This record gives sequence, structure tokens and C-alpha cells, in this order.
Amino acid sequence: MKVAPLTVRPDRMEEACGVFAVLAPGEQVASLCYFGLYALQHRGQESAGIAVFDGDKVRLHKNMGLVSQVFDQNVLELMPGDRAVGHTRYSTTGSSKVCNAQPLVFMTRLGPFALAHNGNLVNTAELRKQLLVDKLNINGLDINSSGDSELIAFALQQAVNSGMAWDEAIKAAAAQCKGAFSLAISTPEALYALRDGHGLRPLVFGHLGESGSAAWVVSSETCGLDIVGAHFDDDVAPGELVRFKAGEDHPFRSRWCEETPKLCVFELIYFARPDSRFFGESLYSYRRRIGQRLAQESPVEADLVIGVPDSGIPAAIGFSQSSGIPFGDGLIKNRYVGRTFIQPTQAMREAGIRVKLNPLRDVIEGQRIVVVDDSIVRGTTSRKLVQAFREAGAKEVHMRISSPPVTHPCFYGIDTDSQDQLIAARFNL
Ligand code: AMP
Repeated sequence: MKVAPLTVRPDRMEEACGVFAVLAPGEQVASLCYFGLYALQHRGQESAGIAVFDGDKVRLHKNMGLVSQVFDQNVLELMPGDRAVGHTRYSTTGSSKVCNAQPLVFMTRLGPFALAHNGNLVNTAELRKQLLVDKLNINGLDINSSGDSELIAFALQQAVNSGMAWDEAIKAAAAQCKGAFSLAISTPEALYALRDGHGLRPLVFGHLGESGSAAWVVSSETCGLDIVGAHFDDDVAPGELVRFKAGEDHPFRSRWCEETPKLCVFELIYFARPDSRFFGESLYSYRRRIGQRLAQESPVEADLVIGVPDSGIPAAIGFSQSSGIPFGDGLIKNRYVGRTFIQPTQAMREAGIRVKLNPLRDVIEGQRIVVVDDSIVRGTTSRKLVQAFREAGAKEVHMRISSPPVTHPCFYGIDTDSQDQLIAARFNL
């Protein structure tokens, strides 16, 4: 979602963004999009935006903040139309400005388009040169700080302006990009959904109402379909472009690139909501299953299994089911604190964890506990938790982690720290 030189990593992990789009003539598409983004809020809390197409006219509203802070009934009522594209964004502080909020709306010789992007490109320097972005000065704006999503939009704009039709231009723009990109794009004629060749970030589509009713929804996760009552049809496949048109009963699906699918495993482990379905299974049951497996691989004698809220809970339930050790609430999470990794410094990060999770002394005291979390990245959370459980009187504390060790940084949208910050890269296992 932003341009960052590969050598300089931000001081924390970065979360994936949320992308949502709807094509539903006769419906209140802005409101549907609002609810879709609401369901995807966990994927990014810095900014939110919706662009609505009314014929070939676009209305765009975006701002910093949560979806519920950026939109209200009045704003949504002023956005009539039949297609909407929406976005929730997480970014690093440096690029946390409203001008970087999405969707992006660009003008071409064929009319405007709106684009929402989830993922990170890894060839931004090369792309900037190819697109001569540094030489452009659009409306006197300094676009030197343009993020990678903006580069995709420039690539598409240039492809259209060079004479290509929309489908061809979208494929040509995608072919210039390397890295992670799940996109929703609306043009004056159609709605498009596209995933990079590896399908690093998820993207699904479904329909509203009866099948064949030609009302379509695109969402980063299936929980976005559920909230608006849409029926899941399929994943946008890695390397696929799907086009939805008003009046057409079926989407037009085509491959623009063939690569090995490589969905980011952190979607399954941590990012995506437990009620979202991947490969035909909710992440709740997937995470519970890996917890069951964990109990078989790393058994321990204990009195109580405690999950670290929220992402560690399903695995803890699975651990309990498989081991027969009772599951209990031993940690209470303050729901009003954002995810801890948005704290910029290590010291604040540690303080953030204390703010967010509080052990239940009367449940823990004198108990041999198994604490199950989904992942260890730097080791900050687990160190703090073990200390907090000891202070709360636990007799024994056994940590169990349901995902494999994180030993390498990621350049595709989850900025896990530089390698020396990753605890599993520094210690032998
Ligand atoms: P750490 O404290 O650095 O070891 O981070 C691990 C904790 O952060 C675990 O409790 C995870 O649930 C959570 N976590 C895992 N991945 C991420 C991420 N990309 N962003 C924020 N938190 C994460």
C-alpha cells in the first residue's frame, strides 16, 4: 500500500487493507459498500473511502479514521449510483495522509475509473521509471510521494490513454506490476476484480439476491459478503481478471497471468476474520484444527488452556478439545484498544500490551496453564504475557504457538520487522 525501499522496513508490522465493491443497479450501493467495509474494518483502521459511479459520473468520499467515523447517513445519501468501490487502509505513519486514502479516482480518455488496492508492490522504483511518474505534474500536485497503489492507477491510465480498451488496459497495467495486488476497479462500463499471479492477498465475489440477478459483490473476505446478505460464488483466482456488467447474468472471467498460487499464510493465521471462509472452511475451524494438531505435537500436563484474544482463541479451543484440558477465559481484552502493533516504539508497544490484555487472577492463581497464541513475531507479546501470568499467580506457564516460526521479513504488505527483530530468526529452535 505504500512505497518503501526494501532496505528500510518500518518499525512494526503492517496490516493488510480491505477492498469491497458492489454492482447493484437500483440498490443503495453506497450503503452496501459501507457495510462491506464495516465488516473489513479489521484489515485497516487508518482511512476509509467509497467511490460511487452514477452513469459515468463519480462521487468520492474518503477520510482518515474508521469507517463509522468517515461516513454517516447524510454522506451516504448523497452518493446515489449503481456501482461502488470501497477501501479501508492501514499504512505506516510516514504515508498516513488523507491524500493517500483510497479509492483512487483517475480520469482517462474513456472516462474516469476508481481503484482500490490491497497489497504491496515490490517493483515500485522500476515502475516509477517506466511510467515516468516523476516527470508528471498533474494539476500542479507533487506526486513524488505517490504510493504503489497510485502507480497501478497511473499504469492503467496510461494504458487506456495509449488507445487500449478497459479489459486490455487493466491486464497491461497488471502485467507491469510485481508483488501483491488484489484490486477492485470500477469504470463507467463495468466493475472489475483482479488478483496478482500468486494471489498473495485474498479476494472473493458473490451475488446479491437470486442468482442471475446481475447484482455483484467483491470483497477481500467472505465476511464482507455475509454482512450484505450476498451469496459466495468463488474466489477471484490468482492471476484472474473478473468483469461484472449490469444486465449480464454471469461475470466474464479471464486469466491474465499464470503463476503458482501463494496466498499469504498470515491471512490464515492472523489477519482474516475467523468467520471468513478460505478453501471452503471458516478460519475458525481451520485455526481450531491447527490447535488440535498442536496439542498432539506438543502435549503438556496442565490444568487450564487459555487463548490469547482474539486470534489465539480458536487454536486454544482446539488444543483443549484434543488434550482434554479444560479451556477457560484467563485474559480479558480491552476491545477499545487498537491492535498493539500500531504503537511506534518498542517501549510503547510493550505498554500497549498491558493496556490491552489483563489476566484474570482468580482464574489463574495456583493453576498450571497452557497459553495458546497464533504467532510469535518479535516475542514482545509472549514475554509480557508470561510475566503477567506469573504475577497473577500461575503455578506453571506453558506457551504453545499454532503457527510455524516467523524467520524472515515480508515485503508483500505485512511489514514484519527487519530480520534481526524476529525472535525466531535470532534463536535456535
Ligand atoms: P510479537 O509480540 O511481536 O511476538 O507479535 C505476536 C503477537 O502479535 C501475537 O499475539 C499475534 O496474534 C499478533 N500478530 C501476529 N501478526 C501480527 C501482525 N502482522 N500485526 C499485528 N499483530 C500481529
